[in-house]
Amino acid sequence: SNSLYTSHLSLGFFFFFGFIGIMFQDITTLLLDHKAFKYTVDIFVDRYRDMGISVVAGVEARGFMFGPSIALAIGAKFVPLRKPKKLPGEVISEKYELEYGTDCLEMHLGAVQPRERVLVIDDLVATGGTLSAAIRLLERVGAEVVECACVIGLPEVKGESRLNGKPLYVLVEPR
Ligand code: 5GP
Repeated sequence: SNSLYTSHLSLGFFFFFGFIGIMFQDITTLLLDHKAFKYTVDIFVDRYRDMGISVVAGVEARGFMFGPSIALAIGAKFVPLRKPKKLPGEVISEKYELEYGTDCLEMHLGAVQPRERVLVIDDLVATGGTLSAAIRLLERVGAEVVECACVIGLPEVKGESRLNGKPLYVLVEPR
């Protein structure tokens, strides 16, 4: 059934901007089509509604576009994982490697309790560095990351190998 979604979504709903050697996968066109947007959210909701998940953790910024809808539908709270210095309360931080340099994600202390079951959501996984930082944040507070989910997985980069054994679920893999 994954391949059905793949052809369906990738043909219709995404713009691919091609530069020399750079492809930016833009999910904002998907959000313009409420049927496609709902279809996408519903796939995640159907998958995660009965998995005992109490936290949906979304990665800034495009994880915020899917995470809250999924959280409301499955009866979980939404926890934003943000870029440095955005969250007003006390935070913990995890650095991760980019192609050039490093970046960092932060989470409010107290937002997630030990042993809570968490879904981590972002729009796209490439190297998996961002998701691996998200996983480390959640595991530092004793939470259990059930799965990481993305709308798009770039297949050539093998993000899953950086996720510390956590399962990765992606809807589409552009060629
Ligand atoms: P990774 O850490 O897996 O190498 O990169 C994934 C992160 O970079 C995600 O947070 C994702 O939003 C962002 N990202 C990298 N490339 C793209 C892209 O082509 N399109 C979009 N929408 N996000 C990207």
